[in-house]
Amino acid sequence: MMSSSSAGLFLPKEEMMAHKISDKCVSCGACAAQCPVEAISQGSNTYVIDADKCIDCGACKETCPNEAIEQG
Ligand code: SF4
Ligand code: SF4
Repeated sequence: MMSSSSAGLFLPKEEMMAHKISDKCVSCGACAAQCPVEAISQGSNTYVIDADKCIDCGACKETCPNEAIEQG
């Protein structure tokens, strides 16, 4: 394992579960525009969150009009 010192891991452990986009996603793109670390991109059927980039800020979850984003 590499050192995690450069990854910005400042959140408590229980909050370090990357957000996920379910198949309720209608690919509107609203969440991607809100993500501060550009962790969200368009996938084949839904948008997808890159778990390695996601810092669990929750912005996408609050933005999604379809409740397609879940934590963990
Ligand atoms: S929780 Fe925050 S960092 Fe993670 S994908 Fe959503 S907007 Fe981006
Ligand atoms: S805001 Fe919700 S419905 Fe829109 S692309 Fe993101 S996850 Fe999909």
